[in-house]
Amino acid sequence: MKENSYNKYSNWHDLVSNSINTAEDLAKHLPVDISGIKRVTECYPMRINPYYLSLMINKGEHIRKQAVPDPREIEDISGSDDPLCEERQSPVPNLTHRYPDRVLFMVSNQCAMYCRFCMRKRKVGHPFTVTDSTINSGIDYIRKNNTIREVIISGGDPLLLEDDAINRILKDLRSIRHIEILRIHTRVPGALPQRITKNLAAILRQYHPLFINTHFNHPDEITNQAALSCAVLADAGIPLGCQTVLLKGVNDNPSVMQTLMKKLLTIRVRPYYIHHPDVVRGSSHFRTTIKEGLGIMRSLHGYASGLCVPQYVIDLPGGGGKIPLLPEYIREVSDENLNVPNYKGEIFNYPAGI
Ligand SMILES: *Cc1c(COP(=O)(O)O)cnc(C)c1O
Ligand code: SF4
Repeated sequence: MKENSYNKYSNWHDLVSNSINTAEDLAKHLPVDISGIKRVTECYPMRINPYYLSLMINKGEHIRKQAVPDPREIEDISGSDDPLCEERQSPVPNLTHRYPDRVLFMVSNQCAMYCRFCMRKRKVGHPFTVTDSTINSGIDYIRKNNTIREVIISGGDPLLLEDDAINRILKDLRSIRHIEILRIHTRVPGALPQRITKNLAAILRQYHPLFINTHFNHPDEITNQAALSCAVLADAGIPLGCQTVLLKGVNDNPSVMQTLMKKLLTIRVRPYYIHHPDVVRGSSHFRTTIKEGLGIMRSLHGYASGLCVPQYVIDLPGGGGKIPLLPEYIREVSDENLNVPNYKGEIFNYPAGI
């Protein structure tokens, strides 16, 4: 398959509808274990759109692993389907209210691709997990709770909805007086950049302050098309962030992560979080150690612009929320003195008192 063979599809709808979702179809493009993949897709759907397929074929294993089902997904008996207890903290279906001032609102069960490590594996791609009625009850809940000042519109991927549906949701949320900030979480810029049309950007820009957090996991995902899609959004005045997931065999490497963070900044995307993978059943083969994650953070501090150093976070099982983890810098602190190494490991004293 040539680098740009997906170009025959003229728009994002065609790319989505020509996605690969069976083992047999995938086998036409890659040597795969058909029966293993079949067993996985009975539990967790597969979707690989032609754009991401060509990226996989051209770039290799670190891209492939994110999208091709692996029998270990159904052999894994560790973790849980919903480690963050999103369902328990849902006052209405598909809306999680964990923090006092903001809610996570899931408005789509579709994605540009189904990431094998997804922390919402239990829901994404399954029919009827999101309906007009759950969207309406979510909006009603937000309207009635005036401590909520930010809505994180998520899914699945909200940008898999049609333009009209996105417009309606944003319009309804913007009509609520206590909502200050709208935020969209999407993997589309890196996994289906053709979805970012001028028309979509024109809709989004009506609802500022609106932020978008993207999801890139490897520098090879930052293609010319991905860069262009981010430019369209940034030119619409939308501040862009990135939530990367630390993944074994994909980006668990200081130099890959450094390149990714620096490259994101060049396409006007500011790294926001590196997530340690959640303890989700079916994803343990992607997990690395916290120690490794902290080592990667150490390789960023001082060696990459502060603009492109995200926070490294864990999301506490049981719905405890996100916690930032920092490599240990403080060697000693008293009322008078702080003793710390700099990024090169040289030791400094700093006056810690008045
Ligand atoms: C991650 C998350 C948020 C947003 O957290 P930020 O730290 O503001 O990005 C909100 N609600 C839930 C349930 C979350 O999991
Ligand atoms: S795009 Fe996001 S919600 Fe969809 S499968 Fe990937 S990680 Fe999960």
